[in-house]
Order: sequence, then structure tokens, then C-alpha cells
Amino acid sequence: MGTKVDSLLLPQDETLSLEGKPVYMWAITQDEEERLKKYIPEITKILSGTYLYNQRVKCNNCKKPTEFIDFVYTALKSKIHTIDFIIADLKKPKASSPPPHYVDCSKCHTQYPIAFGWATGHSFVWQKDPDTD
Ligand SMILES: [Zn+2]
Repeated sequence: MGTKVDSLLLPQDETLSLEGKPVYMWAITQDEEERLKKYIPEITKILSGTYLYNQRVKCNNCKKPTEFIDFVYTALKSKIHTIDFIIADLKKPKASSPPPHYVDCSKCHTQYPIAFGWATGHSFVWQKDPDTD
């Protein structure tokens, strides 16, 4: 293929290991949280990050690193999921990992060059129990 992929971790991200596989925690930044509020205001108060098997990569077009908001943006744009489904799904632990999927940049709408996989069973980092508010 020869596609060059710039992967990166932001300073607030963490690298972990899950069943011998590297897992990356993408922290939700203040700036991302502000943009996420447009889509899912109720989640931004309690979600602080997401776990994936991939590091963030830069958009080939605008250079924005991948963020959780790109998954939300892509799901809504393609009408794969409604907001209600996304919120319910976020709160469910993942027993198995869904197949990796491609997402589009929420800033310039270009598809990121690699497919991303959610970490099994540990997809989200909650600041408090998502079912109590
Ligand atoms: Zn972009």
C-alpha cells in the first residue's frame, strides 16, 4: 500500500496493556468536550476518554488527530446510529470487540487512513457511574 500513517499520542493519553495487546486511552480534551456537546451533551459530563487498540492518527488533509468525536460524527452522518443508540451503547461494556472501522474527520470530512478497533470490555473511561446522574 505504501500509505504513510503518522500515529501519535497526545500528552494526556495513556498506553496500557490488555490481555497482552497494547491499548491506548484517548483522553477527551476540554476543547473536544466543547465540540462534543453539540452532539451528546449528557455524555460529556461523565465521559473522560475512550480505549482503543490504535493510537490516534493525523488526518491526511487537515492534520487533526483522531478523537472520539470523529466516531460520533461518522455514525450520525452515515445514519448508522441515532444519538439514543450511541448513548445506550456507550454505557454497555463490550463483551467482544466490534470489527475495526473507518471514521471521517469531524473537521474536514476526510476519512482517516486506518480502521480503528475498540478495546474489548474496556471501551470507555467514566468519571462516575454513567447510570447515575
Ligand atoms: Zn481533517
